[in-house]
Amino acid sequence: MVLLVTGRCGSGCYYCPLSDVKRGKDVIYANETRIFDREEILAEARSIGATGTGITGGDPFHCIDRTERAVRMLKEEFGEGHHIHLYTCTVDVQNALRLEAAGLDEIRFHPRAEFWSKLDELPFRELMEKTSMRVGLELPALPDREEDLRMAIDSASSLGLDFVNLNELEFSEGNYGMMEDMGYELKDDISAAVLGSEELARKLCDTSSGIAVHYCSSSFKDSVQLRRRLIRRAERMAEEMDDITEDGTIIKGVVECEDPLEAMAMLAEDFDVPQELMRHDVQKGRLEVAAWVLEEIFDELPYRCYIVEEYPTSDRLEVERMPLV
Ligand code: SF4
Repeated sequence: MVLLVTGRCGSGCYYCPLSDVKRGKDVIYANETRIFDREEILAEARSIGATGTGITGGDPFHCIDRTERAVRMLKEEFGEGHHIHLYTCTVDVQNALRLEAAGLDEIRFHPRAEFWSKLDELPFRELMEKTSMRVGLELPALPDREEDLRMAIDSASSLGLDFVNLNELEFSEGNYGMMEDMGYELKDDISAAVLGSEELARKLCDTSSGIAVHYCSSSFKDSVQLRRRLIRRAERMAEEMDDITEDGTIIKGVVECEDPLEAMAMLAEDFDVPQELMRHDVQKGRLEVAAWVLEEIFDELPYRCYIVEEYPTSDRLEVERMPLV
């Protein structure tokens, strides 16, 4: 599970990927779901069968009490084996140790770019002496910052950190203008990745530095991490009438009509459709029917019928709608 504990952060990085609904706002999201109550965090974790949580922001150190409560709550509910890692741009030893005492397993720092060439000035040495958590850096591979990134990797190695993760830089809704001003360009027409970021990250991974350096591409994040999460959630929320695709979306038949309950009764009586293959979708004001059933009977119904593909998220975002004609 990805738990964003606040959108607030003092760093103001020009490449910050946060969307406008999160950036600078004191909001909480668990995966794609806005959270108003701590119980909802646990419900979201259960809904995808989460085996671990990545706590992110903004900067979780901006609301350290809230973050500490979240770490404790997740460990208490899901046990020691629920792995928790956290991202922060602030190298604050006291906060890190406080969260370690609450159960945090791993911490990934992403200090502002101007510190990459002088990590020795931050209190990493003190932290490494006092903690037994895994500690790493997680930095965006800015194509024009090769030298600074090299220095950050070398410092991470000499300071005794455990790893460095390099992420492929991406355009997002929130950073597009600033990134364009910096002269960055899209890698191709089918992804949001920045030209030159992957090449630099791969080059840095191949350079011997005495520390493990990993690269995470934007396509891996989208296609593997997001897909895995969707599949887990779909498997938990799907009913007998739903088809789960290999991307983790759900396929269903949809009957648009004035009175879904009346239509449901008609399908049961005239077409022997079992109750478990139909659902009155109150939220969207329609009748849902197993897709394979609706495909058999739609041309005998006095309604507009569709095959719909949706995300298994709380807003059930519709990604495709095909009319049955
Ligand atoms: S530290 Fe992270 S959350 Fe804060 S502005 Fe930079 S990229 Fe955004």
